[in-house]
Amino acid sequence: MTTQLSSPVTGNPGHGDAFTDHMVSLSWNAVDGWHDRRVGPLEPLPLHPATIGLHYAQVIFEGLKAHRGPDGSVSVFRPDRNALRFQSSARRLAMPELPVEDFLSAVDDLVLIDGAGLPDDPSISLYLRPLMFATDPNLMLRPSDEYRFLLMAFVAGGFFGDQELTPVSVLVSREHSRAVLGGTGDVKCAANYGPSFVAQNLARQAGCQQVVWLDAAEHRWVEEMGGMNLFFVRRTASGTEVVTPGLTGTLLPGVTRESLLVLADRLGHTVREERISVDQWREECAAGLITEVFACGTAAVVTPVGTVKDRDGDWVVGDGTAGPVTRELRQALVDTQRGVLPDPGGWRRVVVPASGS
Ligand SMILES: *Cc1c(COP(=O)(O)O)cnc(C)c1O
Repeated sequence: MTTQLSSPVTGNPGHGDAFTDHMVSLSWNAVDGWHDRRVGPLEPLPLHPATIGLHYAQVIFEGLKAHRGPDGSVSVFRPDRNALRFQSSARRLAMPELPVEDFLSAVDDLVLIDGAGLPDDPSISLYLRPLMFATDPNLMLRPSDEYRFLLMAFVAGGFFGDQELTPVSVLVSREHSRAVLGGTGDVKCAANYGPSFVAQNLARQAGCQQVVWLDAAEHRWVEEMGGMNLFFVRRTASGTEVVTPGLTGTLLPGVTRESLLVLADRLGHTVREERISVDQWREECAAGLITEVFACGTAAVVTPVGTVKDRDGDWVVGDGTAGPVTRELRQALVDTQRGVLPDPGGWRRVVVPASGS
């Protein structure tokens, strides 16, 4: 299904299939570097069956969003962070780095063409998906000599459907690991995601919506939830602590995570990066210390975690509903993205200026 955003968007478009009509494309080879830049229709790719990316997973991607603010402007949230992370993913996969300016100008072009009809509705955004893959039709076990960059977009509603603030249930995965030290857990490469689906299916079979990943070495330390970073809210005598696991090399450094750490501090909370074990999570919930847990990412924004299922017993976080700090941080993030709140960090890249300016 393709959706032209110039027609008004109504209802919840869901996540991942309401593609817009255009894509930006660039090619790379050693002689010409990045070349053959095109902005054209979103269309199927003719691929040789031996395309290296399909066989050896030399494939990386990104995810970022454009939002329309109440002043009519359309802006992209921190695309410079995604451009740099895309470069770090490329280095890890022995792929050529796309210059930040090329990444940003591709984003600008697609948002100008396909984001013009984005409604001023905080629940609807334009999700941008940059992709780079190896294109050599050659099955030698070596990095490709040629690559393709594509930028496509889809209209996004709430990742978890309409009830964004309805808490999700999670299963702690004791069997599978998402990432290992020295591996690729800290970059966004396609090869990280296929192997995670089986754990996601097991979570669903256990009646949960999402899987929680533990560290691969000790199977003890909480790392992430699905494709999202996790935060814990702890009530102490001196105030509220907003805690997230530190970037050990096996966590994906989320732009949402990084932004929430800044926003939480700005809102007067104590912000900490600290590792938390599953046992500690359970015990601190029982003791009323950890009162809220939420996951965050570009797609899901901020999503509360309500119940946890684990080999060693199940528990409820707080009273099982979205807590006040979760709501406050979610609102601060959405309001920052839409330009409702001041933007001291210059996080909004305005692509379509405010109406009347
Ligand atoms: C993309 C991703 C995130 C979230 O990153 P954002 O930049 O906030 O969207 C978290 N964890 C994993 C595993 C991811 O792939």
